Amino acid sequence: MRSTKAIIHLENFRHNIKAIRSFTKNGVKMCVPVKADAYGHGSLECARAALECGVEFLAVATMDEGLELRENGIKAPILLFSLCDPEEVADAVENNITPFVFDREYIDLFAEEARRQKKTAYPVHLAVDTGMGRIGCFPEEAADLARYIAETKSLVQEGTMTHFALSDEKSSSSIEYTKQQFQKFQEAIKNIRDAGYNPGICHCANSAASLDLPETHLDMIRPGIIVYGYDAGDVNSQYLKEKGTPIELKPVMTLCTKVSSIREFKKGMSVGYGRTWIAERDTKIAVLPIGYGDGFVRRFSTSGIQVAINGRAYPICGRICMDQCMVDLGPETDVRRWDNVVLFGSKADGAVMTAEDIADKTKTISYEITTVLTRRVPRIFTGRS
Ligand SMILES: *Cc1c(COP(=O)(O)O)cnc(C)c1O
Repeated sequence: MRSTKAIIHLENFRHNIKAIRSFTKNGVKMCVPVKADAYGHGSLECARAALECGVEFLAVATMDEGLELRENGIKAPILLFSLCDPEEVADAVENNITPFVFDREYIDLFAEEARRQKKTAYPVHLAVDTGMGRIGCFPEEAADLARYIAETKSLVQEGTMTHFALSDEKSSSSIEYTKQQFQKFQEAIKNIRDAGYNPGICHCANSAASLDLPETHLDMIRPGIIVYGYDAGDVNSQYLKEKGTPIELKPVMTLCTKVSSIREFKKGMSVGYGRTWIAERDTKIAVLPIGYGDGFVRRFSTSGIQVAINGRAYPICGRICMDQCMVDLGPETDVRRWDNVVLFGSKADGAVMTAEDIADKTKTISYEITTVLTRRVPRIFTGRS
């Protein structure tokens, strides 16, 4: 097997889920999103590990992701967070994938297909847009759509959801916006009830709200990034400690490789495409077999990222290529060919940077760092129970 691989610590994944559970009241359900291959960690293994921890719902973004779980024997309810195509509705209904609905045309598609397949109470969740500006009906339409779902006879409103846009930001205007979103959601739920319909399982809390806003837990939480071991924006470990509700999240992924070659460079020699890096002294350069074809993206080249070799930090030099990148070891180095390299991950694996550190340096979020790793990087699972 290639030396470039992502180690997936399922024991850390289960630890995170249990730690998050301690933030919820008894009876609050948990939905774990395994969309985008579980944020790059491997959806099937993460789905299985989540279900072992008693998680009630899984979530995906595409029908293919849902079918992969079903084809591998996952029986738990699966929510479809994004919309599918009309051509995918038959497969969805056949495989019990639960859609978010919020307009009559899309409700009709599922209602007709459920009838065709002789299903009488096919579950759907009504999505309400309280300010995310993505999918969902406007709050004032919720009760009318609840009636429309009930009148199909083939569908049943198993749940009602909304999604926060700013719950991971702690400026006073962001806090205010999240409050307003939650209030609109509660009004929509009340309108559904007042009209005589059952909103079912009500859910809105993403990672940040799961840890920071217990009043938003309602019947179910949907924490994503924190189950994979990263902070939810401003709702980070320092903030939660100061608030008196500490949590220890453990990064699930460690990305590693091996030094494939060490080469002696003279002062003035250059490294890589564009000759962006020139040796200012005689030095040794390590070649690593990882590049943007693996998802270690080219944008990282000039961001001050350091990789760990034998517990010490070394800078990337020159542009990251498709399949390789180079590291300046300095003139006096004890690094040997084939030594292990940790690009990011758990400190317990010897990492000097986490995916979060890389995200901070490259002006993105940890979600993107792990999600963009490509299929070429084998995921190696440890800590299966
Ligand atoms: C991805 C997603 C989540 C999880 O978000 P995190 O920020 O990772 O906690 C929850 N709900 C919906 C609808 C999502 O799309």
